[in-house]
Amino acid sequence: MRILLVEDDPQLGDGLTVGLRQTGFAVDWLRDGHSANLALQSETFDLVILDLGLPKLSGMDVLHQARQRGQAMPILILTARDATGDKVLGLDAGADDYLVKPIDIDELSARARALIRRSAGRAAPLLTHGELALDPAARRVTLAGQNVELSTREFSLLQMLLESAGRVLTRSQLEQSLYGWRDEPDSNALEVHIHHLRKKLGSELIRTLRGVGYTISK
Ligand code: CA
Repeated sequence: MRILLVEDDPQLGDGLTVGLRQTGFAVDWLRDGHSANLALQSETFDLVILDLGLPKLSGMDVLHQARQRGQAMPILILTARDATGDKVLGLDAGADDYLVKPIDIDELSARARALIRRSAGRAAPLLTHGELALDPAARRVTLAGQNVELSTREFSLLQMLLESAGRVLTRSQLEQSLYGWRDEPDSNALEVHIHHLRKKLGSELIRTLRGVGYTISK
């Protein structure tokens, strides 16, 4: 799952990036409103975490413009403790949730998972498919009740495919969501992860559509 983090405070931005990556998100971190506004026009994110006090273009303007363009991804705003009016303005302008600084990384991760889950149209926290169950909060996968050990990338890949069961995800959608702008993937990295998932979960689960992408049936 790919998150765009927009925060100009270097220490906070760095801490949140590291913390969110540790819980399995791909994080792209930008430090001003203008670059965030541009990125949102050319890239796809599963969630935006947006500070309101930003250089060049305010977080509120970024939020307004994204919603005016019809972009529907969940947006969580970060507000300063003393700026109580910001929460109301932000929620009314189309934000889905807010957190007041100082930010607790566990709470932020949990809210991120909940927002992504709801935007995928799912109320239940578990993703299931036949005897397979994936728990995004506990980062656990079981097959017929038995734990299956997956790497961070394998877990994210499986989660994306299950979230979109019945739809085909293209290579570039999967790669963007797995890697963000950071570490450019090896050309065959995606195939390697898929290969490992099939070995661990059975060859029938993930179907390849040659030249298009991958899918898990509904
Ligand atoms: Ca700020």
